[in-house]
Amino acid sequence: MAAIITGNGPCFELALKMTVVAEKSRKPIREGLFAEDANGVSLIGGRCRECAEIVFPANPFCPRCCRETTEPVALSRRGVLYSFTVQRFKPPPPYRGPDPFVPYGVGLIELPEGLRITSVLKAEPDDLRVGMEMELVVEGFFEDEDGNEILGYKFRPVEER
Ligand SMILES: [Zn+2]
Repeated sequence: MAAIITGNGPCFELALKMTVVAEKSRKPIREGLFAEDANGVSLIGGRCRECAEIVFPANPFCPRCCRETTEPVALSRRGVLYSFTVQRFKPPPPYRGPDPFVPYGVGLIELPEGLRITSVLKAEPDDLRVGMEMELVVEGFFEDEDGNEILGYKFRPVEER
C-alpha cells in the first residue's frame, strides 16, 4: 500500500502505523483518514504551518493561505454535538447500511481545535441532544469485494462513567 500522507513528524509515523493495520485486510474507507497511537485511533486533519488553520479531511492546501502549507495532525477524539438531523429514509447508492433501513443521526461535531466535522452518529436518534459530549468510534462499515473490512468513523455520546 502506498504511503498515506507525505511529510514527517509524529503524525506521519502514526499514519505509517495505520498502513500496517491496513495490510491486515482492515482498510480505512478513505486513505489517510486515521492515525493510531497508544491511546487509540484519531482522525487525521491538516494544520497549516503558516496560519494554524485546521482542515478535515487532511488536505495539502490551506483554504486561508491558498498554498500547500498544511501538515497532518491527529485531531481530538472528543467534541460537542453542535447540531444534528435524523436520516429517516434510505439514502441512494452507494449507501451500504442495514437492510431494512434503520434511521440514524447525522451531526456536526465541534472539536476543541475549533473546527466542525460532519459525522454519522452512533446513538438512538431520540437520545441526541445539542451540546452533548461525543467521542470518536472507528468500526467496520462493510466488506468490500475482496473481503476486506472497510473502516469508517462515527461519533457516539460519551457514556457517564
Ligand atoms: Zn494557512
